[in-house]
Amino acid sequence: MIVTSEQMEKQYKEFLLILKRGNQEMDFEKIDKAWEFSKKKHADQKRFTGDPYASHTLEVARTLATWEMDTSSIVAGFLHDTVEDANVSIEEISKNFGEDVANIVSGVTKVSNLRLRGSNDEIFVENLRKMFLSMAKDLRVVIVKLADRLHNMQTLYAVPLAKQKRIAQETLEIFAPLAERLSMGQVKGELEDLAFPYVYPEDYDRVKKLSENQYKKAKQIIKKMKRALLTALAKEKIRPKIQTREKNIYSLWRKLTRPDINWDFTKIHDIVALRIIVDDVKECYTALGVVHASYKPVPYLGVSDFIAQPKPNGYQSIHTKVIGPDEKIVEVQIRTHKMHEQAEYGIAAHWHLSMIKSKSGITSEDIEEGKQNIVKGNKFKWVNQLAQWQKDIKDSKEFLEAVKFDALNNRNFAFSPHGDVYDLPVGATPVDFAYAVHTDLGSHIQSAIINGKIVPLDYKIKSGDVVKIIKTKNKRKPTRDWLNFVKTTTAKREINKELRK
Ligand code: MN
Repeated sequence: MIVTSEQMEKQYKEFLLILKRGNQEMDFEKIDKAWEFSKKKHADQKRFTGDPYASHTLEVARTLATWEMDTSSIVAGFLHDTVEDANVSIEEISKNFGEDVANIVSGVTKVSNLRLRGSNDEIFVENLRKMFLSMAKDLRVVIVKLADRLHNMQTLYAVPLAKQKRIAQETLEIFAPLAERLSMGQVKGELEDLAFPYVYPEDYDRVKKLSENQYKKAKQIIKKMKRALLTALAKEKIRPKIQTREKNIYSLWRKLTRPDINWDFTKIHDIVALRIIVDDVKECYTALGVVHASYKPVPYLGVSDFIAQPKPNGYQSIHTKVIGPDEKIVEVQIRTHKMHEQAEYGIAAHWHLSMIKSKSGITSEDIEEGKQNIVKGNKFKWVNQLAQWQKDIKDSKEFLEAVKFDALNNRNFAFSPHGDVYDLPVGATPVDFAYAVHTDLGSHIQSAIINGKIVPLDYKIKSGDVVKIIKTKNKRKPTRDWLNFVKTTTAKREINKELRK
């Protein structure tokens, strides 16, 4: 069904309602102007679906509105393809909508021109570099890009076959991990599930078929638990929102193919999880007590308290595995409404970048020259790190490794004895940990104690490990064999530097 212009105007009105419900002040005049501009410039263009092109820009803006992005981002959403596809100049955008919008559109246009997959490694790396550079300049560029990618994936069925797989693969390898790193969990899952059937069609069919019954069974069990828990919680004067969360099919597949699971569904406890959303932190712990009084926690699988110790990407919740009806193990997640919003929409929901930028008075040139980064705070330190690397690392291969292995890969979270969290790639060792804490600690490693026990320096850190580095009195030179087991780029670079001395 191709959308008509009357329907489009109706959708625009609905979009305005989303904005009015948000808690930010928006410049509606500018937004109306952007919508008119987009319709005019894309007037004779169509999407592969046959829809008028402007319907795509409206959909992107609508997504940005649900993420509660600021006026500039939403205006940029309407205009994001005008430079690339409608011959509008950045100057024209700047003149009509201001420099802030023009900068975002220019960033999105640059990122859109990049092919993030292709036969040539060198070009791929160069393009990744450029993307990370624009991210470090202004994260809104990537957020607009993610909204754009989401709609492109939703309409991928209409795109010529020859292009589908490349776009889907790029989504799985670059954009879904990026969304995850920006703590946009919901977006990550959606992108993965949209891309999955195009990239791995046979596996998709297989998991879909095998899992249908499993999802159904799990949902029935959760329904029973939901009723029982609502009653038990009401006795404690807690009126929570209880949701069921289905594991997205792509991550289910990834888990099923793990050697320790090997397609055994009985080993997967979170195919459907129960989520209890309450008003404040105190209620989270009361709710945890109620859950454990109603259903026994599973020994050894244990409780993870990411409220007391949030994950480095900011994720907060309590996770516990309990024995539910029919002896079935069920994962229960407990969090506040605020934590919930943060987990679903992450950076976009709570991080008003424009304010940070305008308050700090940092110019784009400062960022480009590496003098300043607008990305503040520990949570998004990795963005700064990438921008730094792209300056430092001249060799493309090394940069590619750094990106692939450090930034977008699976991560483990280790703790210092004081409870500071360190975000490390899978397989990282105490030596990586030491260099992550401080290069100086790296050159004073004597031995490592993990969870109270001495371990070898090539021990592979697991999530939740508490790592203590015992220091030597004097600085020591690392040994060459450390290079055989360290995983992080930082450790490798520092060790090489010391060895060259
Ligand atoms: Mn687009």
